Amino acid sequence: MNAFKVAILALGGTIAMTKSEDGGVVPTLTGEMLAAAVPGLGELAQIDARTFRQLPSPHLKYGDLEDLAGEIIRLDQAGCRGVVVTQGTDTIEETAFVLDLLTDLEMPVVVTGAMRNPTVAGADGPANLLASVQVAISSEARGCGCLVVMNDEIHAARFVRKMHTSRLDAFGSPASGRLGWVSEGRVFVGSRLERPPTIPLSGLSENHRVALITVALGDDGTLIRALPPGQFQGLVVEATGGGHVPVEVADALEVVARRMPVILASRTGAGETLSHTYGFPGGEIDLQRRGLIRAGWLDGLKAKTLLTLLLRHGVTSVSDISAAFEPWGGGSRR
Ligand code: GLU
Repeated sequence: MNAFKVAILALGGTIAMTKSEDGGVVPTLTGEMLAAAVPGLGELAQIDARTFRQLPSPHLKYGDLEDLAGEIIRLDQAGCRGVVVTQGTDTIEETAFVLDLLTDLEMPVVVTGAMRNPTVAGADGPANLLASVQVAISSEARGCGCLVVMNDEIHAARFVRKMHTSRLDAFGSPASGRLGWVSEGRVFVGSRLERPPTIPLSGLSENHRVALITVALGDDGTLIRALPPGQFQGLVVEATGGGHVPVEVADALEVVARRMPVILASRTGAGETLSHTYGFPGGEIDLQRRGLIRAGWLDGLKAKTLLTLLLRHGVTSVSDISAAFEPWGGGSRR
């Protein structure tokens, strides 16, 4: 009998989808069915596969992921060697980062999915699940935080992005490169990361709605001025380049930053928001003077995820939020 215990928690997504009556695919396969479809899985570990949710991933909510993080912590305490989460790929770059921020475990937590559903030729779900279990039981993956394994590549939750709508190599980590890979069942981790500070699962606040707005050429701040008063508790702005916006947008952001945290991310998707290079109005120096907090090297989606979790778990002051972005290369200018 294999000594390692691995839990597979299935949330739905393409990996679990089959044809519905109206022709499109919808999530129907259970965690047990996903595990049963992978030859050789039972030789790697004692697998406990089950369905945790059965949803397309855009339907997942923060509450689902907080429940999932609690279950993962319980599985770690019960002696699991690793946990694999299967879900839709559309939101993996956010859900994996939520799990990374809410769990601080030596035990590997691996998120995976599939780009091709099980009804089409070359479905990648079984191979992704096999590679994920191989990573979950490996000593190389221990202490690396939450990982995303797709297409035999290992990505850190904090860097990974979904970068293509349909290809098997849809996932990449443009800011840093992949952490490692799986070959012939062996796990290689080329670079290790320090664990970031985690957010304790604590009493929930209701005030956690965060707006995410991308700035484009010719914008004049109308959308930002139109944010309904009282409906949002934070704003993430994906600015151009290193953190730059038109002057009219800067004026609108300054007004919003007087009433809620405003995080300055870059729409480029890789690289830090700058802190002290550009001196023009609407540049990063000006925006920090107007009260914006730099996202550092977190992209807009990751910055929104971090800010949402901070607000949900009671971190609301601008100075505490700014401090929470510092480990990610961001924060307020000092
Ligand atoms: N393309 C998505 C997937 O890979 C379908 C929707 C979802 O994310 O659940 O699963």
